[in-house]
Amino acid sequence: MAQNVPEFRFGDDALRLRQVVYEYWCTHGRGPNLRAVHAATGLSRERIVAAYQELELGIMCTVHPHTQNVNLLKAPPFSSYPTQAELHVDGRFHSWAGCAMESLAACMMPPFAGKEVRVESYCACCLAPVHVITKDGETLAHEPGSLLVHVSTSPREWNLPDIVAMCDSMNFVLDETHAGRYDAVLGRRGVRFTMEQARRFVTPTGKARMWQYDRAPDYIRPEKIIAGIRALGVDTTAWET
Ligand SMILES: [Zn+2]
Repeated sequence: MAQNVPEFRFGDDALRLRQVVYEYWCTHGRGPNLRAVHAATGLSRERIVAAYQELELGIMCTVHPHTQNVNLLKAPPFSSYPTQAELHVDGRFHSWAGCAMESLAACMMPPFAGKEVRVESYCACCLAPVHVITKDGETLAHEPGSLLVHVSTSPREWNLPDIVAMCDSMNFVLDETHAGRYDAVLGRRGVRFTMEQARRFVTPTGKARMWQYDRAPDYIRPEKIIAGIRALGVDTTAWET
C-alpha cells in the first residue's frame, strides 16, 4: 500500500536511474534491463534494485514484485506492455503509453521537443479507433472532436499497491453516450475529463518530467488530488459517494 507516503527525497542512485530510464525509453521505445542500466550507470545489481524500489515508492515506476531482474512494467508516461494507447513518433510506432491520460503528456518530454507525437487508441466500450495529435505539450487535434477521457477508479484506489490498475482505468471514450456505455460495462460510473481538462491535468507532471533532474517524488494524497481535479472543472461527483 503506497498512499500518503511521508515526504522523502530520492537519493543519487535513484535520480541517476530515473534519468537513464527516460533517456533509454525515449531512444529505444522500451525500457532497459539490468545490464543496460549497469552499462549506463556503473551501479551494481544491489544498488539498481534498491534505486528501483525507491523510485517505485515515489511513483516513478512499477517493477514486477516477484522478479529477480526487477522487470520494469511501467515508467510513466511509458508502459512495457501493450496498453490502450500507442505513441507514434516520426510516422511509426514508438512505444506504449501508460494510459490515455499519460499519452497526452509524452510530447512534453525533452527528446520529443518540436516533434509531433500521435496517439493511436480506441473507445474503451466499442473499440472504435481514436486519434490524437500532440506536440510540445499541446493537443493539436483529436478525432472524434467529442473525445473524452473516462477515469473509472477513484484517487482513493490509486497506487494500491501500484499504478497498474489506476493507469488501466484511464481510457478514451468517443463521447458521453459511449462513456455511459462503458459505465454499464464496468458496473461503476467513471469521471469524465474533456480533452482540455485531461491535458491540463497531466501538464504539471509532463513539464517537469525529465526536464528537472532532481524532481521530487510523487505522492498519492487522495483528497488533495480530488480537489485538484475538481478545480479543473471536472465533475467528481462519482468519487463523492
Ligand atoms: Zn464506444
